[in-house]
Amino acid sequence: MLLSNWRAWKKLGIGLFCAPGSYYAVSMLDFPVSMGGYEFSRNPDEPIIVHMERFPKGDDMNASPREQSKAGRRELYTTSFETIERETRGQLADALMDGGFDPAKDIAAITVNRWGHGYASGYNFKFDPDYQAGDFPHEVGRTRFGRIAIANSDAGAEALLDAALDQAQRAIEELRGIWDR
Ligand SMILES: Cc1cc2nc3c(=O)[nH]c(=O)nc-3n(C[C@H](O)[C@H](O)[C@H](O)COP(=O)(O)OP(=O)(O)OC[C@H]3O[C@@H](n4cnc5c(N)ncnc54)[C@H](O)[C@@H]3O)c2cc1C
Repeated sequence: MLLSNWRAWKKLGIGLFCAPGSYYAVSMLDFPVSMGGYEFSRNPDEPIIVHMERFPKGDDMNASPREQSKAGRRELYTTSFETIERETRGQLADALMDGGFDPAKDIAAITVNRWGHGYASGYNFKFDPDYQAGDFPHEVGRTRFGRIAIANSDAGAEALLDAALDQAQRAIEELRGIWDR
């Protein structure tokens, strides 16, 4: 989210707040990092990015981690932007109102990342079947199809950049195997 200023945060003396059980669990001002031509926001009168995180997992707390993960993914893809916008504005307004925050004036733009990769889950051997090497769903799903090899973090069953890089390398190696023949 882009705010036109961060005066309310400054007045309240906070840069981040956690709200367990609320729509967003974490809301934070951007890191003070400058790079290339980009300069971070040094003055509360200047615009700034706010990062808000939600971890949807359904309502059934007794469901297995896999089922909670699926419920979260379903929610990510089915919630309307209108609902997300309302929750976003409402939560920020509630949290920052004592600092004089006005969502109608202070919010300049909202970007929503429905980040499916956040749910590229690994395995929990307490709940998942006892897969043998080569039988794991992510291994079956990344099987080369003719001259098409599958990269990305899902292919490594891990939601991090290093998994995406490792999988890209593996995919290229698979294709190299074809080209070398
Ligand atoms: C907010 C956030 C914070 C993160 N923090 C970290 C972190 O601190 N450390 C870490 O290791 N990882 C972090 N990640 C995760 C990391 O960014 C991902 O794991 C990684 O980017 C996944 O790489 P990928 O190549 O699998 O997919 P992506 O990076 O999602 O690349 C997929 C690409 O495919 C393109 N695409 C989609 N559909 C089509 C189509 N039909 N045609 C053509 N192109 C298409 C997309 O535009 C995109 O460029 C973070 C991610 C987010 C969103």
